[in-house]
Amino acid sequence: MQADELTIRTIKSRARATQRRDAHRRAVLAVIIAATRAALMATGRPFVIENVPGAPLLNPLQLCGTMFGLRVIRHRLFEIWPEPIWFPPSPCCHDGKDTGAGNRQPGKTNGFATGHSYITVVGNSYLIADGKSAMGIDWMVRRELSQAIPPAYTEWIGRQLLQRVQEAPAP
Ligand SMILES: [Zn+2]
Repeated sequence: MQADELTIRTIKSRARATQRRDAHRRAVLAVIIAATRAALMATGRPFVIENVPGAPLLNPLQLCGTMFGLRVIRHRLFEIWPEPIWFPPSPCCHDGKDTGAGNRQPGKTNGFATGHSYITVVGNSYLIADGKSAMGIDWMVRRELSQAIPPAYTEWIGRQLLQRVQEAPAP
């Protein structure tokens, strides 16, 4: 076997291992979400499950920071029970330059001061001041901010649900 052939086999083997690992993660996520949904349904109360794009949610609504005038590109899915919300407040607007999620060096990334219109709040790929401003959150440290969703999302969903409750006919 030649070295090139060995390298190709190694790469293919690693790719298969990655595919198996990703499939396993998806399967675990599906089980966790299904169990969460079942537990929430058992309460008999309305609920919202949030997760990332690609997660196995039912009739999810996708929200993005740009729909709320925020300078963050952050797509998140929301499963809303018992009745989905079908339409977001506006379309995504990614016009302009965004920083992307590639730069993992703290303090080395570009941001609003260097002419970017939007940032992506992932890991160390953003300046903390930009992240707080973009997300509308000033009380979190980086580790928390990178896992959060903008409060504007939950406020908007909450208002939609409140409106439904108020418009529902009396029992
Ligand atoms: Zn978007």
